[in-house]
Amino acid sequence: MTPALRDLSRLCIHTATTKPWGIEEAVSRYSAAGVRGITVWRTAFADRGPAAAGRLIRDSGLRVVSLCRGGFFPAGSAEQRARAVDENRRCIDEAAELGAPHVVLVCGSAAGQPLEESRRQIADGIAAVLPHASAAGVRLAVEPLHPMYAGERSAVNTLGQARAICSQIGSPWVGIAVDVYHTWWDDRLEDEIRACGRDGRLLALHVSDWRTPTVDLLEDRGLMGEGCIPIRRIRGWADDAGFGGFIEVEIFSRRLWARDQARFLDDIKEAYLAHV
Ligand code: ZN
Repeated sequence: MTPALRDLSRLCIHTATTKPWGIEEAVSRYSAAGVRGITVWRTAFADRGPAAAGRLIRDSGLRVVSLCRGGFFPAGSAEQRARAVDENRRCIDEAAELGAPHVVLVCGSAAGQPLEESRRQIADGIAAVLPHASAAGVRLAVEPLHPMYAGERSAVNTLGQARAICSQIGSPWVGIAVDVYHTWWDDRLEDEIRACGRDGRLLALHVSDWRTPTVDLLEDRGLMGEGCIPIRRIRGWADDAGFGGFIEVEIFSRRLWARDQARFLDDIKEAYLAHV
C-alpha cells in the first residue's frame, strides 16, 4: 500500500477496545501508533478523574472524540427515572471536564413495559437533561442498538426511531451515533444515514464487525474484516451524507482482549486501512 493511502487522520479508538490497558497506556500507545482520536469509557478515568484524563489526552496530541456513555433513562418508577436524569447530568459534567464534544447515549429499556413507553421515557429523559447539556456545551448522541438489546439495553433500535426522537426534541444539542454493529442489517440504513446528514444530526460513526456465528451478545464483536458487515460501504454513505468526523473503532471482545494488545493495535490499524 502506498503511503498516500495509509491515512489514519480519522482513526479514533475507544478505550474499551483495548480494555486491558489503563488510560495512560492507551493514550501513549495510540499516540505512538499514529491514532488521532480517543473515545473514553466513563470507567476508564476512574481515580484520575475526567479533567486530568483530558489533560493527559491533549498533552499526547490526541483528540477526545466522545465520552461513553450516558442514557438508561426508562424505569418503572418516577423516582428511578429522576435518578437516571441526575446520573446523566453527572455524565455531562464529566464530558465537559474531559473536553468531550458529545456523550454517547445507550438509551435503555425497561423490561415489563412496552417499547414505545420506554421510547417516550427516553425522549423525556433527554429533554430533561438538555438544558444541562447545552449549558455545558456537550451534545448528546442517541445510539440505536441492535434489536437483540431491546429487552434491557435500548428501546431505540433503528436510525428511524433515533431520528424520530431527535425530531421530537428539536434541539441542535441532540444528534445520532451510527454504529455499524447495531445498524448494518437495516434495509433502510442508506436512506436513514442520508436523512441524518440532511438534518445535521450525524455526530459519530462506530465500527467493528459482526462475526458469524456470534457467541456472546455483548463481548464477541469482530475486528473490521472478520465478519459480514459492509463497513466501507456504510462509511461511504456517512461520508456522502456530509460526515467528516472521526471513525471510532469500538470492539468489545473477550477473545481480542486476551491477545497481546500491542499486536492487536497494529492489527486495528491495518484492518482500518483495509476495510473502513
Ligand atoms: Zn457504538
